Amino acid sequence: MDRLLEIDDLRVEFRTPDGVASVLNGVSYHVDAGETLAVLGESGSGKSVTAQTVLGILDRPPAVITGGAIRFHGEDLLTASARRQREVRGGGIAMIFQDALSALNPVFTVGFQIEEQLRLRQGMSRRAARARAVELLDLVHIPNAASRVREYPHQFSGGMRQRAMIAMALALDPELLIADEPTTALDVTVQAQIMDLLAEIQAERRMGLVLITHDLGVVAEVADRIAVMYAGRIVEQSDVHTLFRSPAHPYTAALMNSLPRLDQKGQSLTTITGLPPSLLDIPPGCPFHPRCPRAEALCSTTRPPHHEPAPGRFSACHFATEVLQGD
Ligand code: SF4
Ligand code: MG
Repeated sequence: MDRLLEIDDLRVEFRTPDGVASVLNGVSYHVDAGETLAVLGESGSGKSVTAQTVLGILDRPPAVITGGAIRFHGEDLLTASARRQREVRGGGIAMIFQDALSALNPVFTVGFQIEEQLRLRQGMSRRAARARAVELLDLVHIPNAASRVREYPHQFSGGMRQRAMIAMALALDPELLIADEPTTALDVTVQAQIMDLLAEIQAERRMGLVLITHDLGVVAEVADRIAVMYAGRIVEQSDVHTLFRSPAHPYTAALMNSLPRLDQKGQSLTTITGLPPSLLDIPPGCPFHPRCPRAEALCSTTRPPHHEPAPGRFSACHFATEVLQGD
């Protein structure tokens, strides 16, 4: 087992004019080489902020990292010098986003943008970089890569732009790729193609992949493990098959109940009542208690610790064992 990334008790606050928002409240997860971890949660649960902290691009001015560690190959980035952080991240970690248009520059050709990375960061000649850019576009299944390398982002379809962004991320040969909602803006067929592509590349390169999503359906096929986030915490962590068979946290169970099921046509969807809490005012006790169908008095006063109701499974619920047994 080769542990690539280990996030340990990470804490981030946004100090806003309205007060302090507790955005990450002790997030811990890890990713090994060759493994796909899905980080699942509603918007505002802290999935993207965690990733941005790993990448060192937490650029919102009021954001303050107040605790924890981010270890890459065992080296804590949060205590390393700025120069060392750039070295480690530049050579090892890449990220792709939901919106390829924001990552690609509209005034340069797709090929030029990939080549620039190769020239600047790997010192390749113009000629070698062009050849490699074509190879990379080919690798992400862009047809006629040798001619499309000269096109501009607006000449690509949404799915192709996403592929081009993946090619650009792969140019630096990352050991870890973080994909933040990479398919959310795409239609279902293209979504599936992009997920297949990521899975294929990940397996070939034994890359670690962190897949951030709000869509439980997306993770079922590609993820090895899953971390479910709620209000800036990981509430459940498990391997994906066990989690789908039997969730150990009521929030995960509720997310699963809100999935459309092919075998239950015509049944209405169960959605989770209520909204996630404001991060300026997280409820005491278990932050999920105002929405939880099985909350008891204890839940509104006492924060649940991480239970391990089965080996390798973690659940931040007082009743993890009972939930797991379906009680
Ligand atoms: Fe629900 Fe209580 Fe478990 Fe929180 S600790 S998820 S409120 S049962
Ligand atoms: Mg997000």
